[in-house]
Amino acid sequence: MKHIAKKKFGQNFLIDQAIIQSLINAIHPQADDLMVEIGPGLGAMTQPLIKHLDHLHVVEIDRDIIQWMQSFYPPQKITIHNSDVLKFDFSHIGERIRVVGNLPYNISSPILFKLLENTAQIIDMHFMLQKEVVERMVAAPSTSEYGRLSVMLQYRLHMEYMVTVPPEAFDPAPKVESAFVRCVPHARLPYPAADEALFAKVVTAAFGQRRKTLRNTLKGLLDDAGFSAINIDSQSRAENLGVAEFVAISNYLSAHT
Ligand code: SAM
Repeated sequence: MKHIAKKKFGQNFLIDQAIIQSLINAIHPQADDLMVEIGPGLGAMTQPLIKHLDHLHVVEIDRDIIQWMQSFYPPQKITIHNSDVLKFDFSHIGERIRVVGNLPYNISSPILFKLLENTAQIIDMHFMLQKEVVERMVAAPSTSEYGRLSVMLQYRLHMEYMVTVPPEAFDPAPKVESAFVRCVPHARLPYPAADEALFAKVVTAAFGQRRKTLRNTLKGLLDDAGFSAINIDSQSRAENLGVAEFVAISNYLSAHT
């Protein structure tokens, strides 16, 4: 189909067949998988995926693409959801789903945070994202990439940086490098927070001013006695703490307030 890429929908279509094949190999689709593709676009990943799958769900916002898809794909192979993925109800799809997508980079963080709420029904997720975002997702403490996104995702997910993908693999070529990442929800949370809303609040407050010490950023939440009780140096910064320490802070607060 003739289609002019729409910037507002973050449309950069994958065109490098060798890279597409390596992504499909990494996803390793099995016929009876319950799979959802976010943003199928012109089908760069959709077409190889449906060769392996009995059925595929796709969520696409662009009506022009939807119209073309409806005429192109046999309905028994694909269920087409014309929806904004940020408003899409994944719980209707099924209990054990796999999610894949070359995501629109302009809304990748909101998509990741939305899917975090659905991890109980997700087996795994494979995404193409801006390389810098993937680096932040998998970053270790005390590195410049490490931040709120790292902590919030690592709390729920095991993540693997799979491969770097150059701009020329897309049409139009994005201005940035891309990377493919695998995310698998932890079967059991390694560090469960007693109050997850409070955990999120602590992480947000701590990284709000990442150059400041925890003593400053958590003022009003955690006092000196609290820092000593959980054995965390109040002079350290958010970027120095791992998921376990953030959970220790929020669990201390939920037990003492
Ligand atoms: N999968 C195709 C490929 O690899 O060539 C297209 C990837 S393109 C980077 C992102 C796709 O997501 C586009 O098809 C775009 O229309 C779609 N999209 C953008 N925003 C969306 C949203 N909020 N909800 C659902 N799909 C969206």
